[in-house]
Amino acid sequence: MITRTKYNPKEIEKKWQTHWEAQQQYHAPDDSPKPKFYHLVMLPYPSGDLHMGHWYNYSPFDAYGRFKRMQGYNVMQPMGFDAFGLPAENAAIKRGVQARTWTLANIDKMRRQLRMMGAQWDWDREIVSCLPDYYKWTEWLFLQFYKHGLAYRTKAPANWCPSCNTTLANEQVLANGTCERCGSIVIRKEIDQWLLKITNYAEELLDFSGIEWPERTVTMQRNWIGRSEGAEIRFFTEIDGQREEIPVFTTRPDTIYGATFFVLAPEHPWVEKITTPEHKAAVDAYVDQARHMTEIERMSTEKEKTGVFTGGYVTNPVSGEQVPVWIAEYVLMGYGSGAIMGVPAHDERDFEFARKFGIPIREVIRPEGEEPSDPATWPEAKSHLGVMVNSGPFDGTPADEAIAKVTRYMEEQGVGKSAVSYRLRDWLISRQRYWGAPIPIVYCPIDGTVPVPEDQLPVWLPENVEFKPTGESPLRYEPEFLNTTCPICGGPATREADTMDTFICSSWYFLRYADPHNSEQAWSAEAMRRWLPVDQYVGGAEHAVMHLLYARFFIKALRDMGHLEFDEPFIRLYHQGMILGADGQKMSKSRGNVEAPDEYVEKYGADTVRCYMMFIGPYDQGGSFKAENLEGVWRFLNRFWSLVNDTWSEKVSKKETAESNAIERLRHKTIKRVTEDLSNFRFNTALAALMECNNALIKQQNEPVAHSAAFRDTLETMMQLLAPMAPHITEELWHLTGHSSSIHLTDWPGYDEALTHDETFTLVVQVDGKVRERIEVPTGISEAEVRQLVLYNPRVASFIGDATVRNIIYVPGRLVNIVVRNA
Ligand SMILES: [Zn+2]
Ligand SMILES: [Zn+2]
Repeated sequence: MITRTKYNPKEIEKKWQTHWEAQQQYHAPDDSPKPKFYHLVMLPYPSGDLHMGHWYNYSPFDAYGRFKRMQGYNVMQPMGFDAFGLPAENAAIKRGVQARTWTLANIDKMRRQLRMMGAQWDWDREIVSCLPDYYKWTEWLFLQFYKHGLAYRTKAPANWCPSCNTTLANEQVLANGTCERCGSIVIRKEIDQWLLKITNYAEELLDFSGIEWPERTVTMQRNWIGRSEGAEIRFFTEIDGQREEIPVFTTRPDTIYGATFFVLAPEHPWVEKITTPEHKAAVDAYVDQARHMTEIERMSTEKEKTGVFTGGYVTNPVSGEQVPVWIAEYVLMGYGSGAIMGVPAHDERDFEFARKFGIPIREVIRPEGEEPSDPATWPEAKSHLGVMVNSGPFDGTPADEAIAKVTRYMEEQGVGKSAVSYRLRDWLISRQRYWGAPIPIVYCPIDGTVPVPEDQLPVWLPENVEFKPTGESPLRYEPEFLNTTCPICGGPATREADTMDTFICSSWYFLRYADPHNSEQAWSAEAMRRWLPVDQYVGGAEHAVMHLLYARFFIKALRDMGHLEFDEPFIRLYHQGMILGADGQKMSKSRGNVEAPDEYVEKYGADTVRCYMMFIGPYDQGGSFKAENLEGVWRFLNRFWSLVNDTWSEKVSKKETAESNAIERLRHKTIKRVTEDLSNFRFNTALAALMECNNALIKQQNEPVAHSAAFRDTLETMMQLLAPMAPHITEELWHLTGHSSSIHLTDWPGYDEALTHDETFTLVVQVDGKVRERIEVPTGISEAEVRQLVLYNPRVASFIGDATVRNIIYVPGRLVNIVVRNA
């Protein structure tokens, strides 16, 4: 018997956390002979407080990593901080503290809270993206992209929030055209910007064959990249006596005869040239108002179409027809060529536009067998495929040949060609902000744009800056930062004052974890071969396109530059759900439904909070945090604690009895269930299996069987099965029951499949080969018992009747056949 104690999580959790850390128990050694398992969770932004969402993201994740470790893997489970970004800068402005000071203080606090969770973080590998030993390499990466022609600078319209004084990505602009952060109306502004050529990888990014990702995320990335096949058709006109061509992309070259108008984006360079003097005033006014709209507003299908006629015409290169040229905001400069042919009969947006402005609608595609009808009576465009009509020499071309035939004709005539178009555009990475990784570029009046030589990295980010609401990077007003000398001519030059989008920092952090202390390189080739790619990645589905797409692009680009040898960053991906307030709503201060984990850890201990997070429901579905439900998990841990304390004994009986055999079966069944559940991220059902097992043992704790080896083995197994989910209580019980090394270093229990089966099976009874009855019988039943049982079964007996039983053939565990001869 062990000395009975009360479960006191506060005491034991602190004790074990300190012990594990002192032993460096969770450090993943680089030289382990075990197979590696790189287990990664999306790194947090250091907002300053670990909230319930973090607990929900990390504790089941940690349980999985612990499970893999016990399964014999050398698990690397690092943690770090995505520490650049706007909130630090806003805090700096609001509270007058420096962004760096604020950020590092938050990180300190979060590290403490992360330790309270008792997760197996490999702290030796921590990265903090705002520190120079990290951002030096972010800068180095920028230079690699620049060197390989994948980073470029251009003047282009950007989404601009006048209140936040910064450019915004399209994703940061809400559908109503306002800023995601502050709600101000976002405008368009032309500024110099740095972009990365992610479009070079559009085609390869559509290949998901090497990874196991949720189907929904794959679909979102596919849609984001937006590949479409079609044709490029070159419309033309004469300007100042010169033939000028303007290509348009269409997925429907078969509708070319239906093009009754042509639309340019308001920013298109042709607008000025093609507009006739009498239309100039109207066109100028329209261009000016379109400039202030975001792309999202412009593309909105809800909004009524607007546009203006330029007075100019272009020639349709297939039909030879003269087509009027309009400008309209729904055509964007960034997509395709910034121009479209308007085919109102067969495209919904063109249809609305033509209706509004009284432009003719001409049917050129008609489904087989359908009667001609007047498009003026149609309620909407007909975008289906069909037979070509009103299409000159192409009339009667069937649907399945139309696109290819028109495309071939255009290629022969030299007026078009088959083409692929993508929705994806280059990634805008410059921010007019201070708190980000500097862009290592110098502008020299003689040499122009000059990259900072690699041996001069990092370009230090000043720690103290003054914030002025200018809309430009605060770094522009830091002479010590801004003024430098040109690396080529040595003359005076200025630095790039914009900083990088924080998505750059998070596009490569998982590489640095593998080689965090390398001061010579961003990473070594050995470290990459040893640890990458990531075996399991866990994070929110909200990152489906940006972060997860950017990281894939980084890996492919760096591979092509010769810095990496693999194709995909994350082999398996899992999206956890979201934890909600008790009211089923997203936790937010304004709703007053925010729950702080710390107070529950204080009351119940980390193990209870961890297990509760896992018990709420399927991990990918999230759920509501209900404080009262913590009690159930707390009770379970207490009952298990008491059970072990009350029944553990060094001296046990090895004698097998029916009861001890039943317990042994329960042990094997529970191992099987928990193993399968944890393998599939089903933490809630794994816990349910352990609770059932616990209840079954408690029922028998005062019976003789409680002194059996099977009973004690089951207690021991339960500690191990529970260890990934509740690491502290199980470690304490493990030591209380006489073990001297950590439970987390033990091997995951195995099971015997035969012992996991039900203790009965269905015996099929045949009479002369025909199935006559099914009987539930004990697994260990003997042949003699089977004979007795079937011959005295009334239903079986009725089929035998007066006949003589000639033979009984028994196939153990399955069936019995009674062979009879009629009298
Ligand atoms: Zn804003
Ligand atoms: Zn120079």
